[in-house]
Amino acid sequence: MSARSADPLAAVDLRVLWQAQLAQQPDRAGRPLLDAADVVVVGGGFSGLAAARRAALLGARVVLLEAETLGWGASSRNAGMVLAGHKWGPRQLVAQYGPELGPALQRETVLSVEWTAATIAEEGIDAGLARDGHLELAFGRADADEMEAAARELTESGTPARFVARAELGEEIGTDAYHGGLLVEGDGGLDPARYHAGLAVAAERAGADLHEGVRALRIRPQRDGRMVVETSRGAILAREVFVGTNGYTNGVAPALRRRVIPVGSYIIVTDPLAEDVAAEISPRGRMFFDTKSFLNYWRLTPDRRLLFGGRVSFWPSTVRSMARALQRQMVAVHPQLAGVRVAHAWGGKLGFTVDRMPHAGRSAGVSFALGCCGSGVAMLPYLADRTMGWVLAGADAPALARLPFPLVPAPYEGRPWFMPVVGEWYRLKDRRAARKR
Ligand SMILES: Cc1cc2nc3c(=O)[nH]c(=O)nc-3n(C[C@H](O)[C@H](O)[C@H](O)COP(=O)(O)OP(=O)(O)OC[C@H]3O[C@@H](n4cnc5c(N)ncnc54)[C@H](O)[C@@H]3O)c2cc1C
Repeated sequence: MSARSADPLAAVDLRVLWQAQLAQQPDRAGRPLLDAADVVVVGGGFSGLAAARRAALLGARVVLLEAETLGWGASSRNAGMVLAGHKWGPRQLVAQYGPELGPALQRETVLSVEWTAATIAEEGIDAGLARDGHLELAFGRADADEMEAAARELTESGTPARFVARAELGEEIGTDAYHGGLLVEGDGGLDPARYHAGLAVAAERAGADLHEGVRALRIRPQRDGRMVVETSRGAILAREVFVGTNGYTNGVAPALRRRVIPVGSYIIVTDPLAEDVAAEISPRGRMFFDTKSFLNYWRLTPDRRLLFGGRVSFWPSTVRSMARALQRQMVAVHPQLAGVRVAHAWGGKLGFTVDRMPHAGRSAGVSFALGCCGSGVAMLPYLADRTMGWVLAGADAPALARLPFPLVPAPYEGRPWFMPVVGEWYRLKDRRAARKR
């Protein structure tokens, strides 16, 4: 257990830990494919499965298409943090979107966490959900000052939150690298691959027809209002198409591709830690992330490994070199882990948007929920579920569907050539913050 090594990355396994630990899943490739359905869902991650489940529960004939294997995208590669909150705090949401829509947007993030817990319970999913709260850590002194106000703001908006001063941080985390923290109880962590596998079973139980290895190539409207979804295995006629491709959005939905920027994020996990080391690092099992522009996020896994994620630039890179940089960052935060072996490392893609908000909507028979901006485990499947209820059964539209969905303000067709420049700006901000510490 957690042997020390001169080169902690010497034998790193590039498989995703969650996938490596997951029991064998059914093979859903090569199944007979219908040529007509009420709803065709594109993408087999959390969003696609939640949309397929809801549509099937509403009585629709549903075909879900996943180009690779179910969960191949971010849904089984993430850190499993179930978090409420947008990039913008409650007050900023009101300033940006007004006194009615702003609070509704904030409420929706809290509802997304509740929806996650309720769905797991309702469907009997063995996702290992533990609601031990999250702690955002102030990298700079100024960040800590802002957190005091943010805690008040969140509490007033109905999300109980507390500022943890530097002197008390030791009760929360085994490091003295931060100036304070913002604690939100009620959020938590799960095993994303087990959660995803459970959602797949739930969607199938509801009657959805799930397919792996089928790529949607083009969505074409017909004169009668229906859509033709051209796929790598032939065409399917549909009344409604739902796109849940987030950071993997491609030419099948060109209008969405011009609005979603794929950004890679990387994760390392250590060998299981000795009980006392794990308890020192995370005595309360919180989900952690910091306030840097290139933020780090970390947590203990249920088998007491430290999972540590982030990235250090937007220049093209390899999983191995990102893993090395992450290992250095992890040891800077938790010197207790110097030399501890990194067992797994991997990467995946997030979907960013220009306004840093997730989006849902419908246009000409194509509905969608995407643009997680880093936090999609709770929000995107919730949004997909709500969107299907709205489109198919006339339920209230999600508040997020009322936001305009801005185009990337640059010539852009899916290759984010401008991100290295954005990254240099982020790096400068983080350096400046580090100098002021
Ligand atoms: C490293 C990492 C860590 C993260 N950590 C967290 C976290 O701790 N908490 C949190 O809230 N969020 C986190 N996220 C974000 C979260 O994982 C995503 O928001 C969420 O999984 C998105 O789910 P999705 O179903 O929308 O998309 P995905 O899971 O990415 O699935 C999209 C799927 O669409 C498929 N696809 C694309 N095009 C087509 C096509 N034409 N035809 C058929 N299929 C297609 C892809 O193959 C892919 O499987 C993290 C993401 C990453 C990458």
